[in-house]
Amino acid sequence: MTEPVGKDAPEVPAEFMVRAENVHKSFGRVEVLKGIDLQVRPGEVMCIVGPSGSGKSTFLRCINHLEKINGGRLWVNGKLIGYREKNGKLYELKDREVAEQRREIGMVFQRFNLFPHMTALENVMEAPLRVKRRSRSEARARAEELLDQVGLGGKTGNYPSQLSGGQQQRVAIARALAMDPALMLFDEPTSALDPELVGEVLTVMQQLAADGMTMVVVTHEMGFAREVGDSLVFMDGGVVVEEGTPSEVLANPSHPRTREFFSKVL
Ligand code: ADP
Ligand code: MG
Repeated sequence: MTEPVGKDAPEVPAEFMVRAENVHKSFGRVEVLKGIDLQVRPGEVMCIVGPSGSGKSTFLRCINHLEKINGGRLWVNGKLIGYREKNGKLYELKDREVAEQRREIGMVFQRFNLFPHMTALENVMEAPLRVKRRSRSEARARAEELLDQVGLGGKTGNYPSQLSGGQQQRVAIARALAMDPALMLFDEPTSALDPELVGEVLTVMQQLAADGMTMVVVTHEMGFAREVGDSLVFMDGGVVVEEGTPSEVLANPSHPRTREFFSKVL
């Protein structure tokens, strides 16, 4: 048993899929997240927009254990990220336990990061085989189903180099879904794509949202935010400047920084 970190264990806010409470993150002496407060309900699609360098990726990476926060608290699916509670005290998680928490979260990056030496099918089968210890036949059946779901039923044997960027990104989405995540994070999933390939990826994401997946999406696609998002967050300088329904925030941004940003992207 590791030593308690000295903090009392907080109440678990079970009604939210993600809850961030005063989250701070610094790199060296540079504070990148300056107290983020956010909640995402189960089934909600939250879109996050904001200028480059405002801390959007860092926030997603904190949710997904790729960065460790320096202050505040972060829960996913009712579990406090990075800590375990016992007898009212908090203990830092061991690597194995962190890996367990991370399994509940799927992430899709700007770059597709597929394994180049594996076919689309093998890419999607990999984590269930290795991490979930599924049988080959079970993993294969599920991977085929997921590739079908993202419109790639006919490309299961293709290697990444034989797929377009949009197709590769759809494989990346299927690969994340193969772990049956409770939450999906997207970090500018269409920013690296040629314009004509953006739509096919957004369509898959829209379908996923319609199927009830909880999603946090960092994007510049304001059409997607408006049509698919339940909430829209504008971040700038490491803080949430504005939050509301997409129609509220887009039609009537209350903060000058939000207005200025939208005047550039819309
Ligand atoms: P966004 O995704 O909104 O463009 P980021 O979260 O990527 O913003 O970055 C926010 C700030 O944090 C930037 O100034 C960036 O240079 C800095 N930053 C991000 N990651 C690191 C890191 N690993 N080390 C040092 N600085 C970082
Ligand atoms: Mg980013």
